[in-house]
Amino acid sequence: GTVRRTPLIAGNWKMNLDHLQAIAFVQKLAWGLADAKHDVASVEVAVFPPFTDLRSVQTLVAADKLPIAFGAQDLSEHDSGAYTGEISGAFLSALDCSYVLIGHSERRTLHGESDEQVSGKVRAALRHNLVPIICVGETSDDLEKHGPSAVPVAQLKAALSGITSTVDIVVAYEPVWAIGSGQAATPEQAEQVAAALRAVLVDTLGEDVAQKTRILYGGSVKSSNIAGFMREPNVDGALVGGASLDLNEFTSIVRYQK
Ligand code: PGA
Repeated sequence: GTVRRTPLIAGNWKMNLDHLQAIAFVQKLAWGLADAKHDVASVEVAVFPPFTDLRSVQTLVAADKLPIAFGAQDLSEHDSGAYTGEISGAFLSALDCSYVLIGHSERRTLHGESDEQVSGKVRAALRHNLVPIICVGETSDDLEKHGPSAVPVAQLKAALSGITSTVDIVVAYEPVWAIGSGQAATPEQAEQVAAALRAVLVDTLGEDVAQKTRILYGGSVKSSNIAGFMREPNVDGALVGGASLDLNEFTSIVRYQK
C-alpha cells in the first residue's frame, strides 16, 4: 500500500549554538520559512539543539507559534535518580520536545553506546511520549566486510527489541562514512538500505506501522543533493548536521523541489 508520509527535515546542531544564538537562529529560520516562495507547509521541520538551549527554543516557539518542532540529541535510559549528568525523558517531555535523537554514531563511537543502551533509550523515549529518531549506520569497514545493509539492519532490530505494539518512531539511516565527510551516499545507496530497514519494520511492528514510519537519510546532506534523496520511495526526509547550521542552506533543504 502507499501511505503518504509527511517529509521530515531535521537539523542536528550537535554541540553548536548556545541558547542566545539558538534564539536568534530559530527566529531567522522561521522568517526564512515564512518567506518561502514554495509551499513548505507539507514538510515538517525540526531542530535538535543542545540541552541547554531547549527551554529558550520552547519559549520562542510557543510565544510566536512557530511551525518548527524540536527535540534533544540524547536522553537517559533511566527516568530519574542517581545518574549524574544525565537527562530524563520526563524533563524533555516537560519542555514540549516532540522528538529525541537516539544512537547517533557520535554517541555510539565517542561514548561507547551499545545496542542495548540504544534499545533502553528507545523504550525511555516511548515511556515519555517522545518520538525516538533511531539512528543507524555502517562504517566504511562494515560496508567492505558486510555490505551496505547488514549493520544498519542489525542495529535497528536491536533498537526495537521488546517493542511490538503500535509505536510512533522515526528511523535515520546515516552511513558513518558519509557523516561530516562531504561524501554523501548516492540516492540509490540510501534507498537500498532504507528499503531493508522498512522490511525490518514490517517484520517487527507490522505492515501498518512500517508504512507510516518515516525513514530519513543523513550524512553530508546539502541543498544540492537533497532532491535526489527525496525522490526515493523509502526516503522520507533527512537528518542534517553541518548544513543545518547555515540558514540559507537549511532553508533551501526544507524547500527542496522534487
Ligand atoms: P552531516 O551530519 O550532515 O554534517 O554529515 C549528519 C549527522 O551527523 O546527523
